[in-house]
Amino acid sequence: MSDIRVRFAPSPTGKVHIGNIRAAIYNWLFARHTGGKFLLRVEDTDLERSTPEAIQVLFECMEWLGLDYDEEVFYQTKNVKRHLEVVDQLLASGHAYKVEKTSRDGKTGVVTMFKMPKEGTIEFDDIVKGHMAKKAEDIQDFAIVRSDGSPIFHIANVVDDIDQKVTHIIRGDDHVENTFKHICIFKALGAPVPQYGHLSMIVNQQGKPYSKRDGAAFVGEYREQGYLPEALFNYLLLLGWNPGDDREVLTREEMIKLFELEKVHVTAAMFDPKKLAWMNGEYIKKIPAEAFKSKVKEAAAKLGASADFYDEAGWDYLCGQIQPRTKFLNDLDTSLVCFFKDDFEFDPKAVDKRLKKEGVKDILVDLVARFSAVSEWTAPTLEELVKGLSQGNGMGPWVHPIRVAVSGRGEGIGLFEMLQLLGKEKTLARLQKAADTMAL
Ligand code: GLU
Repeated sequence: MSDIRVRFAPSPTGKVHIGNIRAAIYNWLFARHTGGKFLLRVEDTDLERSTPEAIQVLFECMEWLGLDYDEEVFYQTKNVKRHLEVVDQLLASGHAYKVEKTSRDGKTGVVTMFKMPKEGTIEFDDIVKGHMAKKAEDIQDFAIVRSDGSPIFHIANVVDDIDQKVTHIIRGDDHVENTFKHICIFKALGAPVPQYGHLSMIVNQQGKPYSKRDGAAFVGEYREQGYLPEALFNYLLLLGWNPGDDREVLTREEMIKLFELEKVHVTAAMFDPKKLAWMNGEYIKKIPAEAFKSKVKEAAAKLGASADFYDEAGWDYLCGQIQPRTKFLNDLDTSLVCFFKDDFEFDPKAVDKRLKKEGVKDILVDLVARFSAVSEWTAPTLEELVKGLSQGNGMGPWVHPIRVAVSGRGEGIGLFEMLQLLGKEKTLARLQKAADTMAL
């Protein structure tokens, strides 16, 4: 147990950005590592965007990623009375003042401003970025209550942090400028200033902030695309932190044990979709065989195959081949279709490259004759046969056309294993059909 209290304080919009959820992950790990508390505060003051549906999306995202929080959810809108009481306190102590302002639409109203100190330096030791300082005179007074009487982010955020007894504020470094202001509010209220850790932005390959133009930027999109929550969690953790050795795939227990906020990188973290895809594949490999098999059977059922399409040994063999090569569960439909349907689509690129080539027809016709004579239809026997044909010069000229002819695609599981799974009859029929209709 410790007195550490951190919070994730998103403003719900119906979509959870990966940068935000990475901040949640770092807060969560920091709390779990130190034995502190991880709190959830919903900064729901933008009533148009923070709909019940948007808040629901946030909860679902957190649950999906296994980010459990301590204590009750804190809703910012429920604390408005307190925000305004604190503003009165600031007015009374001379740290705030009211002023008439004309807004852009020409309406005049009274806003409350926070009065910045006019001299001295605002300083803090950021756990990630190190010492930070800014001259007070460089920051102008700023509004804390709108003319309609509603509190503004700065005051709501600080008062809630005081009320939630937050000890460490870990958030994106787009908030650094706010932090200089917030420290002045904490001090004006005589409240202890929390410790800060500002996380560098996630950037694209060009070093610019990662946005939806660069690819999927929201957690929900990754979920839909078939990413596993454990893989996304692990990948986002590594975007700005590593355990100090070359381990990359870590269990949740290892993450909790090893995570240290002090070791979070100062430099911007470059998002690498290829690495995330690789990570997903690593987590797919870890799915227990039985669970993976039921996913394969589910996908097979969608393709019209009943559970007795293979016997259990056959399903196990198929799964053993497919699992290590699967990067996304959503891809199962594509990688399995050739086993369960005859009218699968042919990838035109693969057809052009591998079948529409002079001499391929002869190769396929010859293979039909040779394969017809095979009595023991197993991967090793078939491989031996093709190896014999290639006379040690590489099996490429046989293997590639066969693969496209029987599966329609240029990639997949080991070819001979695929032929074993398809069986003799289907293999011969497909080779013959490709020879007749596609090959040159
Ligand atoms: N609602 C703010 C955001 O999402 C809060 C930032 C914070 O203090 O953590 O950017």
